[in-house]
Amino acid sequence: MFWNKEMETLKGDALESLQLKRLKWTIRQAENIPFYKKMLNESGVDADGIRKVSDIRKLPFTRKTDLRTGYPFGFFAVPKKQVVRIHTTSGTTGKPTVVGYTRQDLDNWSELIARNMTMVGLTDEDTFQNAVNYGLFTGGLGFHYGAEKIGMTVVPSGTGNTKRQIEMINDFGVTALHATPSYAMHLAEVAESMGTDLPTLKTGLFGAEPWSDNMRKALEQKLNVRAFDSYGMSEMYGPGAAFECEERNGLHFWHDSYIVEIIDPKTGEVLEPGQKGELVVTPIVKEAMPLLRYRTGDITMILEDECPCGRGAKIARLTGRSDDMLVIRGINVFPSQIEDVLQSIPEVGDQFMVYVDRVNHLDEMKIEVEIKKEFFNGELRDLERIQRKIQDQLKAILQVRTEIALVEPESLPRFEGKAKRVIDKRGDKF
Ligand SMILES: [Zn+2]
Repeated sequence: MFWNKEMETLKGDALESLQLKRLKWTIRQAENIPFYKKMLNESGVDADGIRKVSDIRKLPFTRKTDLRTGYPFGFFAVPKKQVVRIHTTSGTTGKPTVVGYTRQDLDNWSELIARNMTMVGLTDEDTFQNAVNYGLFTGGLGFHYGAEKIGMTVVPSGTGNTKRQIEMINDFGVTALHATPSYAMHLAEVAESMGTDLPTLKTGLFGAEPWSDNMRKALEQKLNVRAFDSYGMSEMYGPGAAFECEERNGLHFWHDSYIVEIIDPKTGEVLEPGQKGELVVTPIVKEAMPLLRYRTGDITMILEDECPCGRGAKIARLTGRSDDMLVIRGINVFPSQIEDVLQSIPEVGDQFMVYVDRVNHLDEMKIEVEIKKEFFNGELRDLERIQRKIQDQLKAILQVRTEIALVEPESLPRFEGKAKRVIDKRGDKF
């Protein structure tokens, strides 16, 4: 199903000419921002110098750290009276990045969310529980307005009060749920402990943190849903810049609204489809806060195959943000890899925590892993066997030795927003 078939399937010359027009408009819009005015002057490129979409490579990149220098409103390209809403990024260090939206921006964003939800089969017949944070985090209001645009019945539950959330799903006949994968897993656990099934659910929309295919299997089985992956970040409006279709083999980017490049993160060289690198995005319809060649820090690739659904090029599911990446004794480790291994081991429960420390100048990684009840009360030698199995399987994937501590079911912290499963104590020991 399509929400806007013409735009969703735009390809070839028609897409090129729309992207070119919108890119030139975006460059002119960006000239209203002192940072970009200076950057464009110094690089000697302006909108007139862009004659085809690939000329975008003449423009310099924008980095996260650039945006921080503009705190709070230094990257707004319109007078503040035209900004009707503000969100902020979930920065963990220093000041967050403030993103602004004009009324038109909010319309554009809702349109993209409406496309995503229609693409996975949701209609005005559906009841949608939006179990994500409704504050400055973009996931709450972003999905809310997109779902209303379709005419779905929206239950703006937010996070927390999990037992009540489960009652609402059943009492209201909720068919579609939006949550972070970690909160969805918590919700499933609580439903299980209440002895309640969730028979009306059919669709799960999960995003805001990377999650593995094994996590997908676990969520689908526990919540009785088909699970779809959502990608985006506040700098691109929010979630929904790219989304899985029914094929669930990569995420469609909305190419009428974003120009997507993959670069070698070291050299900045643009890579071909099928080559893995850093995702660089230029939104081309944003009024309040245009961005040029924004380096996301996310690692993915453009997929070469045509999707049977008829929409444009997809990106591969994300394996992690470069921000989340841990370097352990010189080896890159993503928490999502750990999760993927743990989810594939039947004795392992739902939560884990990673602790990284430096002992005698060497990085040590310790992982606390919850074990399912039926195994936790077993014999000591069985526990030792499970512990060794986890250690061996992690070693095979990560190439790093880990210390594994098995802990009681439901003893580790649960997360209602983005999961924070890594505690890195090395910061002050370099
Ligand atoms: Zn598709």
